[in-house]
Amino acid sequence: MEDQRGEETHILTIPFPAQGHINPMLQLSKRLASKGLKVTLVTAESNPISIQGENLTSSIKIESIPDGFSVDAGVNVRNFDEYIERFKVVFPQNLAKLIKKHEVSGYPVKFIVYDSVIPWMLDVVRGFGLDGAPFFTQAWAVNAIYYHFHQGTLKVPSEGGSLVSLPSMPPLGINDLPSFICDKTGAYPSLLNVILNWMATRFPIKTIGPVIPSIYLDKRLPNDNDYGLSLFKPKSETCKTWLDSKEINSVIYVSFGSLSALGEEQMEELAYGLKRSNNFFLWVVRESETEKLPKNFYEETSKKGLVVSWSPQLEVLAHKSVGCFMTHCGWNSTLEALSLGVPMVAMPQWTDQTTNAKYVEDVWQVGVRVRVNEKGIVTREEIEICIKEVMEGERSKNIRRNSEKWKESAKEAVNDGGSSDENLEEFVTQLLSS
Ligand code: UDP
Repeated sequence: MEDQRGEETHILTIPFPAQGHINPMLQLSKRLASKGLKVTLVTAESNPISIQGENLTSSIKIESIPDGFSVDAGVNVRNFDEYIERFKVVFPQNLAKLIKKHEVSGYPVKFIVYDSVIPWMLDVVRGFGLDGAPFFTQAWAVNAIYYHFHQGTLKVPSEGGSLVSLPSMPPLGINDLPSFICDKTGAYPSLLNVILNWMATRFPIKTIGPVIPSIYLDKRLPNDNDYGLSLFKPKSETCKTWLDSKEINSVIYVSFGSLSALGEEQMEELAYGLKRSNNFFLWVVRESETEKLPKNFYEETSKKGLVVSWSPQLEVLAHKSVGCFMTHCGWNSTLEALSLGVPMVAMPQWTDQTTNAKYVEDVWQVGVRVRVNEKGIVTREEIEICIKEVMEGERSKNIRRNSEKWKESAKEAVNDGGSSDENLEEFVTQLLSS
């Protein structure tokens, strides 16, 4: 079939309605639009989304449809199983109406890209007589581990026990495997390609990451002045003004993403670890977490620290004052720091974050991973040591050099003719000929 791009080829993209899924799907949508497709991102009506930036709708359209919940029942506070059960019934009904509406208005939907965490969406899509493709928002290394676990070719090691060897991956201990598998919360870069090739023999995958706004990768897409869709309101001006007043590479940016919740003791250790490091820090403490901050912490650290309830993370990571990112290693945060060349202190909490942290420290060598004590706590002393390792000394130089290299690789991949760009192009060509 002829490669017909433009207004006549309309595709829908459907993220799972959580922050860490909306962000990468939004960026993918803009990249698809830049390849000449008409793209509509469909969100759940209960997502209290605030759109950051001015010009979002000029590159893609965003439409919300009912998911069976009201706006004030944000997905972060819902019972997950209950949410999914209702979402599964209500969302497809309204999706059907949306597809009909576009058909009547002369923009019939040709294809649907859906989040891989809602795999049943493919049946829904096929029920509409359409086809679809899943979009994975986690690392392929993690997908490969799940695959082996499912196949029975991964034997989970015991605590403190042996390492497991999987094709194309570094040796993995129990704390490097995704927590969902374990039921508890070097020089390897070239192996990544091997992993991807290995996965490709089993699935027709296209790797198109990193899905970071193009302005941060020196590739300004047409009509792409926007930053993102946020479920929380970022303190943009406050962060910018504060960062502007600091010296280059002098600030530790601390964030644990949109879902992770630290225990009270851990929060206290983190707070005092930051204080002991004696660096400037910008710490995102979501509203639901603020009570756990030690008493008088604001007063004691007001000269060194700024605590905000939500930040414009990409702007922060791209700011020249930020010299280190203390992160829970959510896949988006990890990719954002990697793409923007920011060294990391990895403090993973659960799910795929443990595996991402392994890659940060041992595979890409762009950071240091904290060690947990026998009580499951990362102590203030440990936090201080890890921050120092990233901010000063010999290891720090190597980490910074590697971070710069990964930043360049990210740009290369996304820019014209790069691997990400070519894979996306191939995907669009296939989609158009289907
Ligand atoms: N984020 C942000 N401001 C913050 C904290 C996080 O904009 O103060 C964004 C961050 O840039 C990332 C997303 O929220 O794109 C979090 O996704 P991630 O996969 O890192 O973690 P999750 O929230 O899914 O645990």
